[in-house]
Amino acid sequence: MSVIQTVFSAELPAREHLLIQKHRISTDPDGPRMAVVTGVHGDELEGQYIAYELGNILENNLDKLHGTVDIYPAVNPLGINSIERGVPMFDLDLNRTFPGDAEGDLTETLAAAVVDDIAGACVAVDIHASNIFLREMPQVRINELTSKTLVPLAPLLNVDYVWVHASATVLESTLAYSLNAKDTPTLVVETGVGMRITEEYCHRLTQGLLRLAAHFGIWNGDFERGRTPIISRDGKVNYLNAGHAGIFLPRAPHGTMVSEGQLVGIIADPLKGEIVEEIVAPADGLLFTLREYPIVYPGSLLARILADVPVTYPEDADHDINDPKFSVLRGDI
Ligand SMILES: [Zn+2]
Repeated sequence: MSVIQTVFSAELPAREHLLIQKHRISTDPDGPRMAVVTGVHGDELEGQYIAYELGNILENNLDKLHGTVDIYPAVNPLGINSIERGVPMFDLDLNRTFPGDAEGDLTETLAAAVVDDIAGACVAVDIHASNIFLREMPQVRINELTSKTLVPLAPLLNVDYVWVHASATVLESTLAYSLNAKDTPTLVVETGVGMRITEEYCHRLTQGLLRLAAHFGIWNGDFERGRTPIISRDGKVNYLNAGHAGIFLPRAPHGTMVSEGQLVGIIADPLKGEIVEEIVAPADGLLFTLREYPIVYPGSLLARILADVPVTYPEDADHDINDPKFSVLRGDI
């Protein structure tokens, strides 16, 4: 069965209507359920393509589905419609309002309805994109409080990088935090660039979602396996910032290993017609963030490089969470 269901609905002033819907694809309502959420931030669009592609694959392969997949493409539909990160009119970041309050104001009741609808799933994935300034490799971000549960699951999503944050930086008002607190394992994905769709990354993550569904016995069709990601616990991240104003032109490919002294990019001055700065890698590492928007000022973030890459496995190695080498990793995080 495949249906569009309403998760939350409210009338707004000026004849606007706030409607949150989900695409439920199910062959067994008593079987395991996976939730795929995106569009919490209205200007992050990579997840829109994933919602489309995953829904399309499942719709056309119902015989391989054994349970339920709920896809929530637009948790902040007003933000998507007006190209804004937050909720327009309310001027707030929806991902700072969870778990919400069923008795509260509009955004609080909305947040509570979303949490209530997803809670109880065997796994949930909240897909975000970067902003318009920076391009990110597909990565999962996990806070260390939930790392025991989530780190073994993260590589299944075919990401390049798993970033385990210290609990001190945890925001308790996010959707993922609220769901994890309700014993619904929830992974946060960050990928690509704001206001754009990077089809290659989206395709890879869609295949990763099928792989995750297969892990929980929801899917027994085909899926692609990505290479095993680098897993870093607040690894040594080098931030490269601009020293001059101008246009930033990358000179190293995003998502590759760079070596100390390698040219990462240049800053050119369009008025003077000269290169005003050469940006070099301060250490060997993974160029996981790279400036996308060219105009820069002194202090603008240009790149992030993960040095001291702590755990790497051979490329294309299959990931099996029962593999002893992975249990070593699990004990480490
Ligand atoms: Zn976001």
